[in-house]
Amino acid sequence: MTHDVLVLGGGAAGLFAAAVAGRRGRRVAVLERNGIPGRKILISGGGRCNFTNLYCRPEHFLSDNPHFARSALARYTPADFIRLVERHGIRYHEKTLGQLFCDGSAQEVLDLLLNECAESSVDVVTGCDVRRVESGFLVRTADGTFEAPKLIVATGGLSISKIGATDLGYRIANEFGLRIVPPRPALVPLLFDQADRARWDGLSGVAATVTARADGAAFRERLLFTHRGLSGPAILQASSYWQPGGALDVDLLPDVDIERELLDRRERGDRQTTRSVVAEHLPRRLADRWFDVMGPASVVAMTGNDDVRALADGLHHWRITPSGTEGFEKAEVTAGGVDTRELSSQTMEARAVPGLYFIGEVVDVTGHLGGFNFQWAWASGNAVGHAV
Ligand SMILES: Cc1cc2nc3c(=O)[nH]c(=O)nc-3n(C[C@H](O)[C@H](O)[C@H](O)COP(=O)(O)OP(=O)(O)OC[C@H]3O[C@@H](n4cnc5c(N)ncnc54)[C@H](O)[C@@H]3O)c2cc1C
Repeated sequence: MTHDVLVLGGGAAGLFAAAVAGRRGRRVAVLERNGIPGRKILISGGGRCNFTNLYCRPEHFLSDNPHFARSALARYTPADFIRLVERHGIRYHEKTLGQLFCDGSAQEVLDLLLNECAESSVDVVTGCDVRRVESGFLVRTADGTFEAPKLIVATGGLSISKIGATDLGYRIANEFGLRIVPPRPALVPLLFDQADRARWDGLSGVAATVTARADGAAFRERLLFTHRGLSGPAILQASSYWQPGGALDVDLLPDVDIERELLDRRERGDRQTTRSVVAEHLPRRLADRWFDVMGPASVVAMTGNDDVRALADGLHHWRITPSGTEGFEKAEVTAGGVDTRELSSQTMEARAVPGLYFIGEVVDVTGHLGGFNFQWAWASGNAVGHAV
């Protein structure tokens, strides 16, 4: 037994945990199936890695057990990771809403992690496809067996299998008798049903700032029409809360009281059409289509109270029932995962299996869009790195 700790998965959480444990003198190996570690980091944030968020709070995370993440997040904050980024000389900027991105490229964040690992004498073994884990812990890979008394599972979720995602983490949890909250795609575009696809066909590329609501959560960000449905940050955020069969409620005019405006204009005898008024606040193509689909426009001065109210209600509460999501291949993250009630929130150790730990996306903790998922990777990695 040459290692104290084995880490399965060389992504954000695994590499960070390994470096922290290595600094404490633990002999650590990271086993990664890809030829290079951290592939998801490299494609993150459009290639610039949105590595944290200045306004990270527990409310930015979904979980069946919303309090679980608090302790780890409090013990490793965005300021801690920013200090590390600055120590490595990485230049960064805030894009919007506290989201911090590299000025250069995501490669810099991966280099930071690999340098931290190298300084802590961590062995990063690539091209190492883990097949099975047995008690002890014995880790069977495609080309040999590794053994260590402590095992950290950091194999991520199911999103984007072509860059390495597997269900290994869930299988290990299952085999050791731990419950799983069923994994589902999150931060994912939503699909129109057939009728909506026909109604909104041809609007692909049209975008507007909206408030999208699903299952009690509300996000005021951009919405984007796609060939098959809806995307953009507002929809991606809402998708994490959306339940199959449920409806989205979209306010297409979050900054305008369109009922008040139409009534005021009517008072002044405005001869414009309702279509022209709405087109002052929405992209023209969308405004035009709205009236094609929802009913003809009228001259403002001649529009009755009920029609004004119905138009305003429709625009402020556009209800869409998606037929589904674009699935794991287009999902930025996987919601659900190892049930946090099985884990210690201090150490990430499975309560029933001493020495077995789960961190990062494989756990049922899912961040909003905007750097929160990496912050969870760092925070959970830090917690386990100090525990093993
Ligand atoms: C396109 C895209 C953009 C994103 N952008 C951002 C962003 O800007 N900001 C943000 O906060 N989050 C972003 N995310 C989410 C973020 O990348 C993840 O939440 C984060 O990488 C999770 O880290 P992890 O270490 O838990 O899992 P991962 O990074 O997925 O790492 C898991 C590792 O385990 C390896 N593995 C899996 N199975 C095996 C096996 N059987 N044997 C050996 N190794 C295995 C995988 O190859 C992988 O390297 C983005 C995600 C995507 C898909």
